[in-house]
Amino acid sequence: MKKYKVIIDKKKCFGCGTCQLASEKYFKLSDQDGLITIDNFEEKNGQLNGEINENELADFEKAAQSCPEGVIKIQK
Ligand code: SF4
Repeated sequence: MKKYKVIIDKKKCFGCGTCQLASEKYFKLSDQDGLITIDNFEEKNGQLNGEINENELADFEKAAQSCPEGVIKIQK
């Protein structure tokens, strides 16, 4: 199955929660800093990095389009 890299620039996230409304299954706000967090994604240097498969793509695209800061990038 095809995989896609997802990179989220957490430094630009302001915790509005719009992505969570778009896709509650994957997008959450952290209890620690109130900003975007995703299970199984790695956080490094202010970035969240992870890999998704084709079945997850539609949810991630919906969330990416909903983010007012455009911080959710999917590499295709
Ligand atoms: S929609 Fe964008 S700015 Fe808002 S919480 Fe999600 S990632 Fe952060």
